[in-house]
Amino acid sequence: MYHHIKELMYTVNVGDPDPRFGNMLLEQFGGANGELAAAMQYSIQGWNCPDPALKDLLLDIGTEELSHLEVIGNLARLHLQPTKSDRDAAEADPLIAIAGGGGVALQNSQGNPWTADYLKITGEIDVDLRSNIAAEARAKIVYERLINFCDDPGTKDALQFLMTREITHMKAFGKALESLRKPPLKIGRIEPTPVLVDQYFNASTGESQDGDTDIRGPWNEGEDWERVDAPAFREFADEEAGTREPSEEDEGSSGDAAKKAKGRRKSKGGE
Ligand code: MN
Ligand code: MN
Repeated sequence: MYHHIKELMYTVNVGDPDPRFGNMLLEQFGGANGELAAAMQYSIQGWNCPDPALKDLLLDIGTEELSHLEVIGNLARLHLQPTKSDRDAAEADPLIAIAGGGGVALQNSQGNPWTADYLKITGEIDVDLRSNIAAEARAKIVYERLINFCDDPGTKDALQFLMTREITHMKAFGKALESLRKPPLKIGRIEPTPVLVDQYFNASTGESQDGDTDIRGPWNEGEDWERVDAPAFREFADEEAGTREPSEEDEGSSGDAAKKAKGRRKSKGGE
């Protein structure tokens, strides 16, 4: 059950309206990482969630996002209002000015209508929580960019409040994911194919004009990693599994791994 209270979650004070900034604010109203998307994503995940504790969390945060939508909508409206009557202001957002009479609409800063395609809802709570953590990170960075482009102190205060809440949500979703005590790579029920799962395919090889080359890091070496340089030029190690012949240790990270692998393939095949 929803109830509207005639009060904003954070007081909005706008000094000088800035229609061009108002247009940017629409990104957080009807954009891909905006407040309506967050509110709908978490609420609908919550309605689908069989676990009462996680359902409670999702609906707490989903409902708070609706309050954020109200704050950002009021902020954007105050900045966009002059577009209704002022020709120069109208040029900041002709769609809002001409079609919307200076009021906010559920669209992003480029006028693209809000769409449910923005929502990430899988019905697997751990997968959804990861999507939510990423969504909060995106919302945070969008707020930060808006703050960096904002001159109005009152607007900045409200944006700082909204930005902070996104980190709070990220923290809550992160703790909820931890509470499931699922190993981080355990997604769903079907086990991944052994060996193949630990093969790192070094599929971008050679050296660029700028000196870009293959680089080693914990994402491709150490632990269980088996490195396969230029997999397109290597024989299958196991055709059914889809594994490729791994690289020899001395092959190193420099040089053209594709050429080396190609050479080996020829000699191996006896062509
Ligand atoms: Mn929010
Ligand atoms: Mn949030």
